[in-house]
Amino acid sequence: MSRSAHPAGPRHADVLTEGHYSAPPADLNALDGKVWARTVERGADGVVTVGGLPVTRLAEEFGTPAYILDESDFRARARAWRDAFGADADVFYAGKAFLSRAVVRWLHEEGLNLDVCSGGELTTALAAGMPAGRIAFHGNNKSAHEIERAVAAGVGRIVLDSFQEIVRVAHIADRLGVRQRVQIRVTVGVEAHTHEFIATAHEDQKFGIALAGGQAAEAVRRALKLDGLELIGIHSHIGSQIFDMAGFEVAARRVVGLLAEVRDEHGVELPEIDLGGGLGIAYTSDDDPAEPHEIARALREIVGRECASAGLRTPRISVEPGRAIAGPTAFTLYEVGTVKPLDGLRTYVSVDGGMSDNIRTALYDAEYSVALVSRTSDAEPLLVRVVGKHCESGDIVVRDAFLPADLAPGDLIAVPATGAYCRSMASNYNHVPRPPVVAVQDGSARVIVRRETEEDLLALDVG
Ligand SMILES: *Cc1c(COP(=O)(O)O)cnc(C)c1O
Repeated sequence: MSRSAHPAGPRHADVLTEGHYSAPPADLNALDGKVWARTVERGADGVVTVGGLPVTRLAEEFGTPAYILDESDFRARARAWRDAFGADADVFYAGKAFLSRAVVRWLHEEGLNLDVCSGGELTTALAAGMPAGRIAFHGNNKSAHEIERAVAAGVGRIVLDSFQEIVRVAHIADRLGVRQRVQIRVTVGVEAHTHEFIATAHEDQKFGIALAGGQAAEAVRRALKLDGLELIGIHSHIGSQIFDMAGFEVAARRVVGLLAEVRDEHGVELPEIDLGGGLGIAYTSDDDPAEPHEIARALREIVGRECASAGLRTPRISVEPGRAIAGPTAFTLYEVGTVKPLDGLRTYVSVDGGMSDNIRTALYDAEYSVALVSRTSDAEPLLVRVVGKHCESGDIVVRDAFLPADLAPGDLIAVPATGAYCRSMASNYNHVPRPPVVAVQDGSARVIVRRETEEDLLALDVG
């Protein structure tokens, strides 16, 4: 069916070219397994279930909006990464994607390590029993207090991000009488994007120390001289939502090049390299992410080949997936409040959350999909924009999607792949309390992060 012939489709040419959507899906009631958590399916009565629980019941019990997280899916993805990389490599889950005590326990039980990048994330990791030795501490401006806590706790590594931090961490380690294991984060000069990498403008960002111009080699020189530091390796993180391994290939080649330089200059073979995270997930049916075992195979192959040609022993590899583990495991459940057709443009569907629970669309122009989950419908597809309840016209959750034309207030709709960078980036804008995270597993549901209340908001307001 051509779009222009579609009764509910857009009629203006500019809308057609500006939109991100493709043609309406053949069946609006179908759920694409690529974008939904593993146990999500549509029941015989038309209601979508997760972990065997209907979303209508979840909405009744926990309210909307709510992040509904499939615990078995989270654990399975964590395990898949762990198994793909095996015993001679380390998988660090990037806690910033979504962190809570339950998540830390799952990761611990499934044999993963954990990246944190603030005192708050460190506190959560330790409070939930993650052994300090399995924690890596990141960030471009860790405070002296945060560094001191991390060193005192015995974190397995601190990733150094600047010349000042090399000295800062060394001093704190000296004072505490320990030798802190550290990596140096380098910028390798590739910036990876979804389907491309751009070899320019890469050094112009705040993270890491540039390989170019010998900066990173100088950082290694300084770190090796300091008694408080045990330099275990080099770290590189090239970006996020990457589908193409070419960026990793260039990064690995350049990091191995630095390892060879370090060997030649200092006679030291650094034992580890960390290639960061950033592996893409399916937000819409157009995305085709690789499986962890394919990624592991590709990375091992690249590093093995580069080390062989440089005459280096292959270092221990670590990776830091965040989104690729947490992202696909949750969806946001919303109730439709208003449906507003704008003649000749599109229909605006307002939900009971918005940019406060998902800032990614406004921040990165991220794409999402959406489905009607409280019932099925045979109505025609309607081009919609799902928006929130905030006082911003940029308060968009899903820029362009198709929902059934009989969508009405009270319907439940869900946005999949919101397990990463949604709750963790949530705000209180407009004094809208942040939604809960409900973990579902084998027919039971429990709150792992409770809904914020208006009392919580007033509790902070001590004026
Ligand atoms: C954000 C980040 C990650 C995780 O990125 P994802 O896209 O969630 O996989 C890993 N390592 C570092 C250093 C990061 O900053």
